[in-house]
Amino acid sequence: MTQKWDIVIVGGGIAGYVAANYLAKTNLSILILEKGKNVGGRARTNRINQQYLNQGPHALYKKGKAKSILEELKINLNGKSPKTGGILIENNIEYAAPFSPLELFTTNLLNGKERLEWVSVLLKLMSADPEKLAEQTFQQWVQQTARSKMVESLLYTLGRLATYCHAPEMVSAKVMVSNMKNAMGGVLYLDSGWQTIIDQLHNKAILAGVQVQSHTRVKQISPAPQGQFKLVLSNNEEILGKYVICTSSPQELHELLVEKLNLDQNHFYAQITPIRGATLDVALTQLPNPKQLFALGITDPLYYSVHSNYARLSDDNKSAVLHVFKYLHPDDQIDGTSIKDELEQFLDKLQPGWQQYVISSRFIPNITVNHRLPQIGDESKLQRSKTAIPGLYIAGDWASPDSILADGAVRSGKQAAEEIIFNEMRKNSANIERRLPTI
Ligand SMILES: Cc1cc2nc3c(=O)[nH]c(=O)nc-3n(C[C@H](O)[C@H](O)[C@H](O)COP(=O)(O)OP(=O)(O)OC[C@H]3O[C@@H](n4cnc5c(N)ncnc54)[C@H](O)[C@@H]3O)c2cc1C
Repeated sequence: MTQKWDIVIVGGGIAGYVAANYLAKTNLSILILEKGKNVGGRARTNRINQQYLNQGPHALYKKGKAKSILEELKINLNGKSPKTGGILIENNIEYAAPFSPLELFTTNLLNGKERLEWVSVLLKLMSADPEKLAEQTFQQWVQQTARSKMVESLLYTLGRLATYCHAPEMVSAKVMVSNMKNAMGGVLYLDSGWQTIIDQLHNKAILAGVQVQSHTRVKQISPAPQGQFKLVLSNNEEILGKYVICTSSPQELHELLVEKLNLDQNHFYAQITPIRGATLDVALTQLPNPKQLFALGITDPLYYSVHSNYARLSDDNKSAVLHVFKYLHPDDQIDGTSIKDELEQFLDKLQPGWQQYVISSRFIPNITVNHRLPQIGDESKLQRSKTAIPGLYIAGDWASPDSILADGAVRSGKQAAEEIIFNEMRKNSANIERRLPTI
């Protein structure tokens, strides 16, 4: 017997689970299919030698959409905010990062004139209306906003930190500025990692009757009679769904569809470029230099932060869990060995002799941070979750008009669910109207 579902969600990452939790409030039957052995996608945390390692540095924006939507779903978000501070590195010299009032006035990075300019640029950033920047790249905005090269470089550094985007000449100023404003509101590092979000979403979904099947890849989605979809799974089983929410990358979605999207959507999805990075995730018994907690390269697109200083990331809460990260440009050729050397050398500068204290260390040379580098005009193509194929909806970190990262994933998950609920309500009320006797 072919299984029939009202809603099939392709992907058990944060977007899929948020959609399932909103839809679980209806009486529709819901199935999540996840190709991985475990659910969670990129929000998974690996517990290795009693240490909790996120897949690269993960920080939840306190003013972002993900936090408020997750709270609406009654997800507990326990953790702490890292202090603004730390160091910036340029030409092997360390400077206090001018991100907090004290360092702003004491750092040797800026001369008197640059200091004043940086204060005024930060004020401009905070009061900027992102909607007015929809037609500009971030590079154009930075060049208009900053006068000195140093302040320009600081804006690029802050932009990378807030968004993981390292292509100012390509990326939309609107999305960059709006995410930078969010980031200025602070972030949370979560106790036990982001897996806690997934576990809570999963448990709530299961309690509400959602079925989850992991280790099952959707191979194909095609139209079936009565406006349904037929999904072919990796075990060659076929199932039917009235609605499908796809949370895979746009390229994977294109490959899954037998009946292709219209030309406009196809063309748009095909040219989407991901935001990528390389990460070195490390747990140490102790930090050789306990005071060094946060650093960024200015010209070198490098990041370092000790997340365990704020979040509980090991069973005994005694070790140090940190992330070293390289922001990649879309054109970068990835040579894993040399990037690993670069990240290890960066860590060596900050924590000399760290190798003696390693509990676990994991290097990922090329990880997709966000499936879409947001570019000018993208938002007009992503206003709705529904696609040109009726019943097929998209969600995921690439599928939200003006948010990216977890904010985009969570927001688009909620939006896809709401559009389906709205569609069902409309259909039901039309059916009732049809059945009412005419007088
Ligand atoms: C290094 C790194 C650092 C990050 N830092 C931050 C941060 O600081 N702040 C922040 O907000 N965000 C951050 N992010 C981004 C955040 O992790 C992602 O945006 C978010 O987890 C994406 O969720 P998603 O559900 O859209 O996609 P995913 O997590 O990728 O979930 C999609 C799921 O679909 C499954 N799937 C795909 N195709 C199929 C198929 N055909 N059949 C079945 N299953 C399928 C995949 O296996 C996957 O589990 C970071 C990401 C990385 C990698």
